[in-house]
Amino acid sequence: MRAARQVWSGVYNLVLGLVTVFKHLGHKAITLQYPDERMPMFERSRGVVVLLSDPETGKLNCTACMVCARICPVYAIDLERSEEPDPETKKRYPVKFEIDNTTCAFCGLCEEACNFDAIKLTGKYEFSVYDQKTLLYDRDFLQELGRDVPYEKKKKPLPKAKAAPKADPTSPKPEEPASPKPEESPEESPGEDKPEA
Ligand code: SF4
Ligand code: SF4
Repeated sequence: MRAARQVWSGVYNLVLGLVTVFKHLGHKAITLQYPDERMPMFERSRGVVVLLSDPETGKLNCTACMVCARICPVYAIDLERSEEPDPETKKRYPVKFEIDNTTCAFCGLCEEACNFDAIKLTGKYEFSVYDQKTLLYDRDFLQELGRDVPYEKKKKPLPKAKAAPKADPTSPKPEEPASPKPEESPEESPGEDKPEA
């Protein structure tokens, strides 16, 4: 009985495999001859993190505000701010900016939090190495990686001002507080006799 079940299972799987093969015979192949051919990455794919620069000045957009380092859940970002602002841009800049790709989770929180369009997750990949120490990317390498990444200003909508609640015409008007009466002086109060001199 057990042998018959095994034979049946083998035949069933063989037929199933053949059906799958014949179903795809007329379809266009979707495999790529990597590395000669590469799949174009999607707009929102989360690959290696890079630093963006202003194409006009060539300088980093980063103002070393530390927000990305604080929001990073795995403490993969290590940066130090310059003591003085850049004389040209009048902004602070990072004298040190390192991302540890051995711990980066490619979560995208740093990009979301940055208010200066300075850090971005790209569709770049193929960064396999033999020595994991080389996965610690420094500022200059991160900037070079981001040089060919399109510079897009994120259009962040301004927070809408809350409209004041409209007054309900059917609701009763709040009563105005009665104005206090001027205190009557004891000399002028009626019905009281003035003390005799
Ligand atoms: S990358 Fe953005 S969030 Fe991070 S320090 Fe620079 S400006 Fe601030
Ligand atoms: S992608 Fe996520 S884990 Fe990686 S550096 Fe940015 S915040 Fe940290």
